[in-house]
Amino acid sequence: MTHPTGPRFDATSYEFTRYIDVHNWIGGEWVPAAGGAKLEVVNPRHGATIGDVTMSDGGDIDRAVAAAKAAFPAWRATPMRERARVLHNLRRIMEDNIDELTWLLSHEMGKTFPEAKAEVEKGIECLEFGLSMPNMENGAAQDVSRGVSCAVNYEPLGVCAGITPFNFPIMVPMWMIPQVLVAGNTFVLKPSEKAPYGSMKLAHMLRAAGLPDGVFNVVNGARETVEGLLDNPDVKAIGFVGSTKVAKIVYARGAANGKRVLALGGAKNHLVLMDDAEFELATENIPASAFGAQGQRCMAASVLVAVGDNVQPFIDEMVNVAKQYDLGPKLGPVIDQAAVDRMTRYVTQAEEMGAKVLVDGRNAKGPGGGTWFGPTIMDHCTPEMPAGCEEIFGPVLSIIRVKTLDEAIRIENHNPYGNAAAIFTTNGHTARYAVDRFQAGMVGINIGVPVPREPFAFGGWNESKFGHGDITGYDGFRFWTRPRKVTTKWAKQVDQTWMG
Ligand code: NAD
Repeated sequence: MTHPTGPRFDATSYEFTRYIDVHNWIGGEWVPAAGGAKLEVVNPRHGATIGDVTMSDGGDIDRAVAAAKAAFPAWRATPMRERARVLHNLRRIMEDNIDELTWLLSHEMGKTFPEAKAEVEKGIECLEFGLSMPNMENGAAQDVSRGVSCAVNYEPLGVCAGITPFNFPIMVPMWMIPQVLVAGNTFVLKPSEKAPYGSMKLAHMLRAAGLPDGVFNVVNGARETVEGLLDNPDVKAIGFVGSTKVAKIVYARGAANGKRVLALGGAKNHLVLMDDAEFELATENIPASAFGAQGQRCMAASVLVAVGDNVQPFIDEMVNVAKQYDLGPKLGPVIDQAAVDRMTRYVTQAEEMGAKVLVDGRNAKGPGGGTWFGPTIMDHCTPEMPAGCEEIFGPVLSIIRVKTLDEAIRIENHNPYGNAAAIFTTNGHTARYAVDRFQAGMVGINIGVPVPREPFAFGGWNESKFGHGDITGYDGFRFWTRPRKVTTKWAKQVDQTWMG
């Protein structure tokens, strides 16, 4: 089964559309996985099967890694500017087909069309950073002694692998693909088994962009497939994005096998609301952060720490805003029934422990019969409640009320995650005080989703990231390369020591 530019996804609305079964993309061909076990890919808006994905076994992984290994010497020998040209072409193809890509990812993971389009656009922004590397990356050179020079080149590692989550099927692969490929590596991508089509589409598009066969490969599957990649000796580096539980496993097993690993994990993002905050800015941004993309963002607000005695009008208005989120057009479904059950459990448990549910998303029904959970706001939560300290990964905002900013900062600091934090205030000193003390890699001032835009790199701290550096931007390039230092002397030196 070959598709030079790939099968089209015909949806132009939320109406249910079936897609084709998922195959692996190995050496420029579609290959059915031999693994055997099949999982349905379900459109969460309709609860209907969009296609099937077969789990890849050891043989499938070996084939993909072998294809990537065989393609490496020629790709590495291709000048960086030529490698980047393929990404230029990919950018054009993605833009020309942006609606198709957008509908595809809306159907596979449930985002609304505007949110899905924003994801594709952010993916393109990441691509733009990667394709500009030849204009930025010129190593460094210096005469370190008389007649002796040192230079450094950043060399590719070889076969690299990426493992990605369900919630950003285009953007998260795009955190890795540009830097991996422009650096001269070859790649095996293992997308989420819940949303594998975005990666299939990217494979088609990369080939149409002129990427040689074998440079980019996709293997589908779940836990065993990831373990196979972690244990394969020809895989030199692993980029992982997903939950903290799995990030820890991937980091430990990959490192034990001598691989370079960067593993981004889950989050519990705290937004601190001061009562001097700008009213509209805060009451629009905070619900948008908590409920946008169904709260299924690692940057979503999860805890609102409301400081002082004058925050009630803000909370009342956020309740009004939350009630206006129509399920369907403004808020999509959550990924599956297990997610609905998990969110329900957290809210019910918090209620039993004394929280007051101001907006209740349990038992919400959207159009289309899929898996839905409505925006939820709970007041009078505590950091000890599971909903106050664990990742819920749904549209649930837990409010903790405190008297002082220091108390708010202590709560944020005490949480083991460290992806994002933000403060809403009109006071510069207050903002600076909080920013300097938050335990988070990505911090916002009056911004609910403080995602760094390119060229600033993406990555959290603490239990939200294992490994050194960030995954995007220049750090991404450094992660997927290794420095080779070259020291050169062309003339014989007389009366000189090696330090002369
Ligand atoms: P997940 O951890 O369940 O899955 C991520 C990937 O790991 C998938 O490809 C999956 O097949 C694989 N996997 C699952 N269990 C595994 C196991 N036991 N061993 C090896 N591999 C395994 O995450 P998800 O549910 O797809 O995505 C949601 C999670 O991802 C949330 O926790 C969210 O915060 C996190 N996330 C983090 C970031 C970030 O930048 N820090 C970005 C997006 C999502």
